[in-house]
Amino acid sequence: MVGGAGRMGQALAENLNLIDGLVVSALVDVHEPPRLFGASYYVTLADVDPSGVDVVVDFSQPDSVVASAKWCATNNVGLVIGTTGLSDDQRAQVEIAAKATGVIMASNFSLGAVLSERFAAMAAPYFERVEIIELHHDRKVDAPSGTSITTANRIRQARAAAGRVTPEEPTQRHTLEGARGSDAGDGVRIHSVRLPGLVAHQEVLFGGPGEGLTIRHDSYDRVSFVQGVAIAVAHVDAIPGFTWGIDDFIA
Ligand code: NAD
Repeated sequence: MVGGAGRMGQALAENLNLIDGLVVSALVDVHEPPRLFGASYYVTLADVDPSGVDVVVDFSQPDSVVASAKWCATNNVGLVIGTTGLSDDQRAQVEIAAKATGVIMASNFSLGAVLSERFAAMAAPYFERVEIIELHHDRKVDAPSGTSITTANRIRQARAAAGRVTPEEPTQRHTLEGARGSDAGDGVRIHSVRLPGLVAHQEVLFGGPGEGLTIRHDSYDRVSFVQGVAIAVAHVDAIPGFTWGIDDFIA
């Protein structure tokens, strides 16, 4: 587990260990983990013996994801990535590593979030406009969330496939900059909220003549990500290939 001292690393280390057949054997982090949950602690993945590792799970920060991907490619170890906020170059380096080993990367491993993205894509062709509000805890370092960008992209693909074009934005005068959020492309706007007390939440709001549809998902606790990470761990192996998301593994 890379990022093993972090909020996600600690939640995953505790809860993946409770799943039959899974053992978190190493916590890798530049900071010492508050709890080890029976694992060994390493400052860097380079110090870990690859023969004792089947899969690396990375919930850290973008630079270390690239290092994890290179280590996994060199050692034929599958990699599950939850870290968000990668630049295009970092993402490209991960995809190069995936030519040598299996990589599953997802912006959201909670099953409810994965299903809400699927439902949003289903609804996308039928409404005139759609906007996304993503809400997270106030210590999140990137905005908008990776989940909101993935959701926007799925909506855009579904609308493009159906030939649905968002009408031109009528609101041109912005008294406060950013009041209309950011256009993620094709008029799908994302608004980011950061507040203490939140974990990870998202609303997709569709509007059409005389009606609206809201698809809302809430992660109240980091345990919500455990099941999806376990599914990815079960499906990733050292066979080369890059997979985005776990949607394909949920029937
Ligand atoms: P966090 O800041 O609590 O933890 C990150 C950890 O990474 C820290 O302990 C930090 O010391 C460690 N780290 C930094 N550089 C490192 C390096 N070079 N090597 C090893 N460890 C290093 O953050 P968090 O809330 O646990 O989130 C971690 C990441 O996971 C973020 O990118 C977040 O957006 C993402 N996330 C993804 C999902 C998902 O479902 N995909 C869910 C929640 C969070």
